[in-house]
Amino acid sequence: MRVKRAKKNKKNMGVYVQIFGFREPYQMILDGNLIQVASMMKIDTWTSLPKVLQGQVRLYTTSCVISELRALGPDFGAAVLAAKKLERRRCNHEKPIGASDCLKSVVGSDNKHKYGVATQDGALRKHLRAIPGTPLVYINNGVVLLEPPSIETERRMKELEIQKTLPKKFEEPVLKKINPDSKIAAEPTRTFKKKPKGPNPLSMKKKKKDAPQKAAGAGTGEKRKREKADVDGGE
Ligand SMILES: [Zn+2]
Repeated sequence: MRVKRAKKNKKNMGVYVQIFGFREPYQMILDGNLIQVASMMKIDTWTSLPKVLQGQVRLYTTSCVISELRALGPDFGAAVLAAKKLERRRCNHEKPIGASDCLKSVVGSDNKHKYGVATQDGALRKHLRAIPGTPLVYINNGVVLLEPPSIETERRMKELEIQKTLPKKFEEPVLKKINPDSKIAAEPTRTFKKKPKGPNPLSMKKKKKDAPQKAAGAGTGEKRKREKADVDGGE
């Protein structure tokens, strides 16, 4: 099971790396509830997150997360201490706001800073699934898990893959114009235009009209075919 999960995680992280430009160390923002659960279950986020994400990580939290943990009372004391050991990601909230809203604002509408979010908050994860290219981590039954890429992530992934192929097609005519070889490429298109413009279509129409009328003589038909061939060859 563990090997299978590791393979899945590697494949899923590959999406963020190859399509969304994520690079190690992966920046993970930890929510207070996950820090609390990890603390209670004695899960070391410093060792478990690199394992799940299969690469080096930088672990962040925000001042709002810490102040929310503090406000929850002494039961969350260990979590506060654990949170303080993480790097502080500036969130620009002078007055602390709810951790969920704070993390939403840090990730923003497009996660341009390429954060992953580790949270036990199902509603927050649901919100973040709508933002393409946002790795989501949570703890379930004492196991740290990476969510598979969301539907929105997959949708954006397909869009980006299509965009990657489009410039190549557009580049071709541009490159032909720039390249001296383009003259060679342009010539066949001219000859293609000449062929239909030539007398062939007209002559064919005339012959079609003639053919059924004089169809009785098989020999004449053969002669005409030869004539046609001569005309075609002469052009
Ligand atoms: Zn904040």
